[in-house]
Amino acid sequence: MMLLQNRAAIAVGLRMCSTHVTKGPVIEKPRPTSDMSEFRKVFSKAKHIAIITGSGVSAESGVPTFRRENEKWRKWQSQDLATPEAFSRYPARVWEFYHYRREAVINKKPSAAHLAIAECEARLRKQGRSVVVITQCIDDLHRQAGSKHVLKIHGSLMETRCVSCGHVTVNKRSPICAALKGKGAPGPDVADAQIPVDKLPRCDERDCHGLLRPNVVFFGETLDSHILTQVEKEMELCDLCLVVGTSSIVYPAAMFGPRIASRGVPVAEFNLQTTPKTEYFMYHFQGPCGTTLPPALAKHESERF
Ligand SMILES: [Zn+2]
Repeated sequence: MMLLQNRAAIAVGLRMCSTHVTKGPVIEKPRPTSDMSEFRKVFSKAKHIAIITGSGVSAESGVPTFRRENEKWRKWQSQDLATPEAFSRYPARVWEFYHYRREAVINKKPSAAHLAIAECEARLRKQGRSVVVITQCIDDLHRQAGSKHVLKIHGSLMETRCVSCGHVTVNKRSPICAALKGKGAPGPDVADAQIPVDKLPRCDERDCHGLLRPNVVFFGETLDSHILTQVEKEMELCDLCLVVGTSSIVYPAAMFGPRIASRGVPVAEFNLQTTPKTEYFMYHFQGPCGTTLPPALAKHESERF
């Protein structure tokens, strides 16, 4: 944990991992408050707001998130399939899993929380203030809601990356390839479709034909250093941070809020329950973020336009 407090720890090389170990340094500080009027005073003065979002935001749009322990695809949890080892050994199974996830988000609509964030960004921009979304979600719902400044630290379901030539491209085809049509059913008794690897999504680049993978960060992989550098800048710049719909157990994202709080910046958590990181924060608002977030980000009486 000490390392995670270290500024150097966020530099290139951090791997995404999940942990339920909740022991952290217990810092003596008052418990977070849920005083919305106090939060609103801070909000009204903030110039640069960083909003860190997690799967809870998308769950309210009906997107299966595979974050809760009982949320399985067939007999596996996300951590069993979203790994480089699983993709290397069972590319067809992993593609079925991601095909299911792609199809599950294609017709989803942004939630009240997505919309509140996007509306706030647009409104504050006219006042010379900024909002950045730093999201762990791999769907596209923040952008669909209208958010412009979005840093997707865990990649995108709707992009592919070639394992041979590295080419990254947006790919919203449904199904992504003929062999996956109708496949990917999540039931516990469904057998693998055992699609031959040459029938899985393949690279269109000239003469490549390499195997494509979802352009997401698997557990155990490092985050994109270019995006992490931008995240680092935003964490230094912000004068208010919201941590929304995340259980704060997936690293390195779980330490972003506490790091910002360690600079003395107010951090407000919006979540269904407390998390291993709640004690680090000044505010905690409990409940569905589609309910708690809109009044928190609504136009303040001090805003003139
Ligand atoms: Zn290629």
